[in-house]
Amino acid sequence: MGSDELFTNRLLIIDDDDAFARFVKKVAQSLGFEVVAVTDPDEFKMTAKAWTPTLVILDLNMPGCDGVELMRYLALARCGAHIVVASGLDDRTVEATVRLGAERGLKMGGALAKPARLQTVRDLLTRFISVAPDALAGELAEAIRTDQLFLQYQPKLDCRGGRMTAVEALVRWRHPTRGIVPPDQFIALAEGMGLIDALTDWVVATAARQAADWRSQGLPLEVAVNISAKNTQDIDLPADIILELTETSAMRDAVQMMDVLTRLRVKGFRLSIDDFGTGYSSLVQLQRMPFSELKVDRSFVMQMTRSKDCRVIVEIVIDLARKLGLTSVAEGVENQAILDELRGLGCDAAQGYHLSRPVDAARIPEVVQAYADMAQTVAA
Ligand code: C2E
Ligand code: CA
Ligand code: CA
Repeated sequence: MGSDELFTNRLLIIDDDDAFARFVKKVAQSLGFEVVAVTDPDEFKMTAKAWTPTLVILDLNMPGCDGVELMRYLALARCGAHIVVASGLDDRTVEATVRLGAERGLKMGGALAKPARLQTVRDLLTRFISVAPDALAGELAEAIRTDQLFLQYQPKLDCRGGRMTAVEALVRWRHPTRGIVPPDQFIALAEGMGLIDALTDWVVATAARQAADWRSQGLPLEVAVNISAKNTQDIDLPADIILELTETSAMRDAVQMMDVLTRLRVKGFRLSIDDFGTGYSSLVQLQRMPFSELKVDRSFVMQMTRSKDCRVIVEIVIDLARKLGLTSVAEGVENQAILDELRGLGCDAAQGYHLSRPVDAARIPEVVQAYADMAQTVAA
């Protein structure tokens, strides 16, 4: 199913009261629904099946047509739409019908008493407008299962040796109709929808396979993957992968996180604290947590040659890392001036568009080779 289909809200109305149907149709259309209004039960059944509405408004008392029978049909046809019962009957009857529908597995969306005021109808319909993230979420589960995700890798430069010794894996989504969707648009969604474990499992497995592949080609690169605080408990982790965890998530539930991280570290994982400077870690927490690498957030690095404050922050963070025995990495290195300054400050590693954008795995060997050649020229 294409995303456009998922994004439309489709309302099917069956009502013998023509004026009421036209009224609801107009309100729904003004809210962006596609609307089909019918009076004939057979036409209703056919449309419910073929057109897959997202919302059905069903009149209970129509002459010559039993609304309850239509609901039974919808249940048998496993109709996935929300069902709203419209009726001028007393509340008790309507309530009983709603309960019956729910018992049969229909997604009952309440009742609409007739006659209804404009605002009532509008409020009711608004509740059933599904917005883009819902549609994306449904598609994301599918995307993880069917390999629509892919990884790009951004190299990290060892500032002293001048070689690319590590890469960070960054996930992307090749969406069938929308093109490449960046992680900022679906990671939070994955976290919220309980899909982050599956996503991280996929990322870790794919990155580990890639690392092994490079190693067999004579390229022993360290591979880092980003993990979410929401999934540290459950990931099945192969060795020699660095885990990058954002400062904010690492500190959100410090006690539980420390427990998990300590256990991971014991098994030999290296932990990197990402986006450092944007969260609220205290120095005590930083010293207690088993991190081995500290990544200065790119917002400071990108500005460091233009803003004195940013430069000071970068300098202090690099210093802090050194004194705590952690490797310092600066991300967001967008030009040579920044790289030169970082080298002057004794930063261990650098990452950014100036050195290399995130690229497909196949392009990594040539990038690594280019830097190795340069390093050799400098050394000679
Ligand atoms: P991050 O971990 O801080 O990753 C670095 C981001 O900065 C990447 O964006 C990268 O393309 C971008 N970047 C690198 N160099 C430069 C530069 O010189 N200038 C600028 N302006 N940007 C630069 P991307 O790939 O869009 O990833 C965004 C964020 O999405 C990541 O931030 C990370 O938090 C998250 N993410 C990516 N992949 C995964 C994943 O597999 N799992 C999880 N949980 N999160 C991920
Ligand atoms: Ca990262
Ligand atoms: Ca970062």
